Amino acid sequence: MADEQGDISGSDDGDVFTDALRKLDHAAEFGKIDEEVIERLRHPRAILQVAVPVRLDDGSLRTFEAYRVRHDDTRGPGKGGIRYHPDVSLSEVKALALWMTLKCAVVDIPFGGAKGGVVVNPKELSRLELERLSRGVVSAFGDFIGPDTDIPAPDVYTNEMVMGWMMDEYSKAHGRRVPAMITGKPLALGGSRGRDQATGRGAYYAIKRLEERREWRPADTTVAVQGFGNAGQHVARLLHADGYKVVAVSDSKGGILSNDGFDVPSLITQKNESRELRAVYCKGSVCEMVDSDDITNAELLELDVDILIPAALEGVITADNAADIRAPTIVEVANGPTTSRADAILAERDVTLVPDILANAGGVTVSYFEWVQNRNGLAWGLDEVNDRLAEVMGRETDNVLDQATELDTDLRTAAYVVALQRIADAVSATGTHTFFSDG
Ligand code: NAD
Repeated sequence: MADEQGDISGSDDGDVFTDALRKLDHAAEFGKIDEEVIERLRHPRAILQVAVPVRLDDGSLRTFEAYRVRHDDTRGPGKGGIRYHPDVSLSEVKALALWMTLKCAVVDIPFGGAKGGVVVNPKELSRLELERLSRGVVSAFGDFIGPDTDIPAPDVYTNEMVMGWMMDEYSKAHGRRVPAMITGKPLALGGSRGRDQATGRGAYYAIKRLEERREWRPADTTVAVQGFGNAGQHVARLLHADGYKVVAVSDSKGGILSNDGFDVPSLITQKNESRELRAVYCKGSVCEMVDSDDITNAELLELDVDILIPAALEGVITADNAADIRAPTIVEVANGPTTSRADAILAERDVTLVPDILANAGGVTVSYFEWVQNRNGLAWGLDEVNDRLAEVMGRETDNVLDQATELDTDLRTAAYVVALQRIADAVSATGTHTFFSDG
């Protein structure tokens, strides 16, 4: 969980879900997906809105608004994280749930899509208040969530500690331990090895596929990462270990730039110990400052780098700045960082954009592994988890790259078409008009 709060930029139209539907419609038309399938995906299956009263440390009572959206469960139980952020809205949670449905389909894991959000600035709460809130959220969600129906996970400003409290609360209410009701838990409570780094690692595996096809030389390839939390840190760390030059990183307060490239492990140590992002080089526990320039988050997006990785929040690449993005490749580790209007501008300029539903799917893939382990009483080793993740991400990245070539389109449209076809197969098998007319 990061320490600062950031602003969530809106979409070009100020409504994230409407913009998400625009991307869906574009791909559906392109892929000639059955209209009945798209009609279903335009409307979340179920929406829960609750008020969660929490006793604060000073004895007063405060009520927090929370949402859980189950978008679609045709391919399996709903799956998706819970976000804590002051700017959470129902529109945003609906968009995030829709993207989860598509994401699970694009990596072909047997889950549908869901998402949760709590309108809160967690930085303003003590740890005990945060625990009371997290337990209150699970109790308010009640049987709307569960191991066979809708399985939460961490997202922005929630982490394994929060997942542990939630699992404990749910288990108490059900009179037995139910580890499979949530993923991203601490190892001690049935979490999976490798889940903490899975989102960044999955993006790294996708980048390695591009590297192979485009014959990049890591030492000549520069990278900028916006957002230095769970996902951003791990993808930066793995790329740096491979010899890539990570020249810029940022958090909600701003960024740092060094054309020589940063020692990423040192930045991570510094950031996680002091909660400050500073340009340092550390040897053991001794860190010294290195040369760097301060940049804003807006400047980071427009740097002349080879790979731009937005890994913070949605709606940061819009129609206003898309023409100024200089990176020829964008890898969307955040959910929804690019609006649909920006998409069109970037596609026109032949920018390679690895879409969020593929690039950050490593997280939900290892969440699936965690759920499988919990349901079978297993605990896989780290190598087994990483090998399985590499297999899924490599296979499905290749699949999307091949589809894009075959359909002569951009990677987002190709990924959506792959996902929509898989969802359409499932919907059709439950009995649509095409199922009957084909039969
Ligand atoms: P996190 O809370 O660990 O980190 C978020 C980071 O973003 C922090 O460094 C924070 O300082 C920074 N940030 C916040 N506001 C910012 C702003 N306005 N400008 C720049 N930086 C800002 O969250 P995370 O889990 O790393 O999630 C980051 C993104 O990745 C989100 O879009 C999330 O939905 C997506 N994602 C995460 C996972 C996962 O498993 N953690 C899985 C899939 C997708």
